[in-house]
Amino acid sequence: MKHIEIIDLNFQGVPESIAAFLIRGQEGSILVESGPHSTLPVLEAKLNSFGVALKEIKHILLTHIHLDHAGAAWAIAREAGASVFVHPRGKAHLLDPSRLMASAKRIYGDQMDSLWGDLQPIPAAQLKTIDHGERLQLEGLTFTAWHTPGHASHHIAWQLENVVFTGDVAGARIGQGVIVPPCPPPDINIREWKDSIRLLSRLDVDKLYLTHFGVFQDISNHLSILEKTLDAWVDWIKPYILNGSNPETILQDFKLYVEKSYEDKKMGPEMKDKYAKANPLDMNVSGLMRYWQKFGDQH
Ligand SMILES: [Zn+2]
Repeated sequence: MKHIEIIDLNFQGVPESIAAFLIRGQEGSILVESGPHSTLPVLEAKLNSFGVALKEIKHILLTHIHLDHAGAAWAIAREAGASVFVHPRGKAHLLDPSRLMASAKRIYGDQMDSLWGDLQPIPAAQLKTIDHGERLQLEGLTFTAWHTPGHASHHIAWQLENVVFTGDVAGARIGQGVIVPPCPPPDINIREWKDSIRLLSRLDVDKLYLTHFGVFQDISNHLSILEKTLDAWVDWIKPYILNGSNPETILQDFKLYVEKSYEDKKMGPEMKDKYAKANPLDMNVSGLMRYWQKFGDQH
């Protein structure tokens, strides 16, 4: 098994909130996730500390195109000529990121630059899509792409031998903290997410690599808590949707609800800060509200 380096991108100065993963190959190196563009200098410095120059990155495997996972891919592609592998539904947004950028600007306003940085097109020749179950041979290694919608419609979990890089589909979990399902807008789909959790549980792997954050081996325990929490969050918000509560009220109550689970796990302020960076609660309220608006009649 190839050694995998977990690169802590120290997002917004907070450790263990966003990771990228480095695998050194025969000719060049592979990154799973690029992290945000705003943390590119951190990524480059940490690559250097492993003896890898940014220019030596030959392939970038993205789990999905959210800015905390894929925001720096264009810059690495430009600097290193790297190829970027993405779900077919994500490709158009990387070729022409204007819509992605516009929607992020609507959400983040003048914090856009400091949080995420820039987003520029990736040339078509460097962008590769991959089908469900398709194998990819890179640098003497075999990756398998598992289309795993639910958190995002264009999500891939990347299996490498006996490990799988789960992006956000296996949730967020930091150290001894809680296991939570990040639910940002726009395309949370609970039924699909549960199918994806089932797919992950059937893979012949013994480690999950979570972008938020790190490596975990208690796979069946992890996935069952994730699924229960996902159900609990969706059900929690339902009465607020039915009685037409406004988003501010929902957010206030959701914070109390989730922070109760943080207290139960004896998470201190530093740990809470990591979760706030990895999975901001206001995004979850927006995403869950959007889900009920779209799929409430089918839930
Ligand atoms: Zn995401």
